[in-house]
Amino acid sequence: MPENAQQFASDNYSGICPEAWAAMAEANQGHQRAYGDDEWTARAADHFRRLFETDCEVFFAFNGTAANSLALASLCQSYHSVICSETAHVETDECGAPEFFSNGSKLLPAKTENGKLTPQAISEVARKRQDIHYPKPRVVTLTQATEVGTVYRPQEVRAISATCKELGLHLHMDGARFSNACAFLGCSPADLTWKAGVDVLCFGGTKNGMAVGEAIVFFNKALAEDFDYRCKQAGQLASKMRYLSAPWVGILQDDAWLKYAKHANRCAQLLANLVEDVPGVSLMFPVEANGVFLQLSEPAIAALTARGWRFYTFIGAGGARFMCSWDTDEARVRQLAADIREVMCA
Ligand SMILES: *Cc1c(COP(=O)(O)O)cnc(C)c1O
Repeated sequence: MPENAQQFASDNYSGICPEAWAAMAEANQGHQRAYGDDEWTARAADHFRRLFETDCEVFFAFNGTAANSLALASLCQSYHSVICSETAHVETDECGAPEFFSNGSKLLPAKTENGKLTPQAISEVARKRQDIHYPKPRVVTLTQATEVGTVYRPQEVRAISATCKELGLHLHMDGARFSNACAFLGCSPADLTWKAGVDVLCFGGTKNGMAVGEAIVFFNKALAEDFDYRCKQAGQLASKMRYLSAPWVGILQDDAWLKYAKHANRCAQLLANLVEDVPGVSLMFPVEANGVFLQLSEPAIAALTARGWRFYTFIGAGGARFMCSWDTDEARVRQLAADIREVMCA
């Protein structure tokens, strides 16, 4: 298998989509004001306001860890806590950055069903302790689509937000794969966010065709106070900001973001369909976004790896994660499915 063959380990193995690339090339002409004071950044923010049908505040960071951590820090004091799912990226994959940037706000993992938090699980954690010795719950963070490839329905987000209101909690959404969630549900980005009570969304670009960059979208504008200073202090203020913002113009202006997310989701469905009848293979979670989580045998996992396939197996014994991306080639999906069949039947 060639070194640069398409893989399924992560959607960020993929490159840059033509729309983002073209926008960067277009932005790469002449001089522009620095630090976000340029026309591309203004245009990108306007595209977000149009997409979300509301007057939101938009910021850009280099990656998702920074976007999540800084957004959560802006919702918390250091003595507060953040309720998240036990499988949340902020809990398991950000090296303590949310705690670091908030000066100590503690993450409180809650139980999930298919990767999703429920009003009941949130309520249990929030009500567990209400004394001075325990960090005061202040925020709930949801991942949409979740780390296991499932998607919160708008009514599920609304129910969680109602619980948040009752308990005095802000609602943050880690949307590293927000595009895939929108593509799956076919509903408007507004319905999935501020109309359902989300205060702040971290909207992922990297996993859906951009080189770098996540947008932090504040629907509750009061919470965005001084957020620009927070980004700067954290080393997240790009001086040549146009190269972070122009690709957003590229993927938002003609809905490439949605086209690519639909494609990635479709490839995941195809993979799931192609292996579903293989003896010994079972789906660990419903396939809703662009990830397929399969229970395979240990020898089969070793054999696939020996054949050159790359995928993640962090989900416990026998679990394998396959992610599809904006540019996944259907032929490659079929090749993978055929190999899974062969190694499982060997
Ligand atoms: C990829 C990802 C992020 C962002 O990760 P970075 O590597 O920091 O860009 C955030 N949340 C989830 C759920 C992710 O999958």
